[in-house]
Amino acid sequence: MTLSPSPAPLQRWLTGPRFSALPARDASCQPPALSFEFFPPRTAALEAQLWAAVRRLEPLAPRFVSVTYGAGGSTQQRTHAIVTRLLAETTLVPAAHLTCVGASRGEVDDIARAYWDAGVRHIVALRGDMPGGAPYAPHPQGYAYAADLVAGLRRIADFEISVAAYPETHPAALSPEADLDNLRRKLDAGATRAITQYFFEAETFLRFLDRAAAAGITAPIVPGIMPVSNFAQAAKFSAMCGASVPTWLGPMFEGLDDDPETRRMVAVVVAAEQVRVLQASGIDEFHFYTLNRPDLVYAIAHILGVRPGPARPTRGLPCAAPGGDTAA
Ligand SMILES: Cc1cc2nc3c(=O)[nH]c(=O)nc-3n(C[C@H](O)[C@H](O)[C@H](O)COP(=O)(O)OP(=O)(O)OC[C@H]3O[C@@H](n4cnc5c(N)ncnc54)[C@H](O)[C@@H]3O)c2cc1C
Repeated sequence: MTLSPSPAPLQRWLTGPRFSALPARDASCQPPALSFEFFPPRTAALEAQLWAAVRRLEPLAPRFVSVTYGAGGSTQQRTHAIVTRLLAETTLVPAAHLTCVGASRGEVDDIARAYWDAGVRHIVALRGDMPGGAPYAPHPQGYAYAADLVAGLRRIADFEISVAAYPETHPAALSPEADLDNLRRKLDAGATRAITQYFFEAETFLRFLDRAAAAGITAPIVPGIMPVSNFAQAAKFSAMCGASVPTWLGPMFEGLDDDPETRRMVAVVVAAEQVRVLQASGIDEFHFYTLNRPDLVYAIAHILGVRPGPARPTRGLPCAAPGGDTAA
């Protein structure tokens, strides 16, 4: 190799825009707390895949695992069955997603009471979307928005309640400010944590945290991370849910349509870079959209320093504080 006589590469490294140069993890830095999201599968084969994923990720001792609720409440029975089986057969703490769509307040309250009676203590409270992508219309006797559902759940029992947040603003919100006001209403109504829609640029989340802090929101806002191995599918879904797809992401997957193994490796690298930037910025909790597939998430968790072991009762100390200082 010939060394260039010009100092340009070093100059560029020292002064140019950079993506990385993250603080290395050292022994004193606590791994982050994780949570994993699963969805209720439709077939027996996919059900087997779900439970294999659960078993693979269980030793990572996540703070909780959540199970989604299909559009329009279409998976009510299956969500309930998975959540109660998680409670009965695993060491995991399950959280049940619950939505307002297509049900009266009484019906939703009954589902919530059934969860409480079964021993489920954590609900992810959502408005939900209409089946088939129809414009949202509240049920005439239902909870209209997630904030109303949170208030209803609070009246039923002492649930831990998580809600959704949108770093790039919910597509139906009147403005970013109105959407933040809505997040505050959900927290004021009794939610204790927000989990975000996925995003691809770490900066998007960090800017959102700043805006939330400036708006006086102090509850934890946990970044939702979706490792992407199927770019076409992710791009389609992102267009529907308002997550922007950076121009650099598509080319990462070019030419790999028939090469799932390489796509998975690329997916880990992309998501690992994203979470490492967040970790270096002091983020110590991550929520992973697993899509019922464990391997990408397991690898990314490993890179973050998470190893199989007993559950952590408290929040981990971050590897680095915002501002770039490494934690003592
Ligand atoms: C972490 C996470 C998990 C999810 N899990 C599921 C799931 O399991 N099942 C499912 O079907 N969907 C799920 N979703 C998708 C979610 O249901 C949709 O994004 C839905 O469109 C909004 O739900 P929300 O709880 O954020 O709604 P809300 O907080 O009620 O907000 C919905 C929209 O209405 C606006 N708004 C709120 N209150 C008012 C008001 N009083 N007047 C006018 N506008 C108002 C808000 O600004 C926002 O634009 C999830 C999303 C996330 C981020």
